[in-house]
Amino acid sequence: MIDFHCHIDLYPRPEEVILEAQRRQIYVLAVTTTPRSWRHLQGLLAGCNRIKPALGLHPELALEREQETRLFNDLIAETRYVGEIGLDGSAAHRRSLPAQQRVFESILESCARSPGKILSIHSRGAAKEVLEALERNWNAGKPVFHWFSGNSTELGRAICFDAWFSVGQSMLRTKKGRDLVARMPQDRVLTETDGPFTQTGGRPAMPWDVAETEETLSELWQLSLEDTGHRLEQNLKTLLSHSGS
Ligand code: MN
Repeated sequence: MIDFHCHIDLYPRPEEVILEAQRRQIYVLAVTTTPRSWRHLQGLLAGCNRIKPALGLHPELALEREQETRLFNDLIAETRYVGEIGLDGSAAHRRSLPAQQRVFESILESCARSPGKILSIHSRGAAKEVLEALERNWNAGKPVFHWFSGNSTELGRAICFDAWFSVGQSMLRTKKGRDLVARMPQDRVLTETDGPFTQTGGRPAMPWDVAETEETLSELWQLSLEDTGHRLEQNLKTLLSHSGS
């Protein structure tokens, strides 16, 4: 099983989540929201072979953390995995879009200087702006849109750009989300939870809750659960082999 976007450092007891995810052999992309939390997460994940720390600066924090782009740039050579990064154009965050765009641009430039990155990208209410930034910085790395919620034209543009997608249960609960996922190339889709920020059965989603998302995908793709699991593992292998290791 794969949880390609999880804030593992933000659970009340991350050590327990890490142990259980390890025990279940789940591949987890552990995204961060600020470069300052990178060292701590790296320490938590020492010795974990299927839980990868990602260096991030969340767009919702871009305004107050703009000076951390320098730290981001200092750390970028240490990791292949980047996230959570991106832009948020929703009503609550639209005001900080200029700062978000400066931060995102700076991050993409850092990534381009250190090739082979895989980027977990937030694009709520700003899919078009994110696509424009990625097209300008086409050499920043392989984008994986997390919880893509753009319109159908924007989805088409992301697909043409060879982007990947990580999809979760919150997205698949809506018709719009299911319609978008149905149009995504099956060989460029991964599962995610976005835990602990999403809920499953009235509690924060855990990495192993992607089992439910696999079931929904198997219905949507009309594949057996087993074939859906194989498809997703194969996708992960393909993505990770894009630029070695
Ligand atoms: Mn997130």
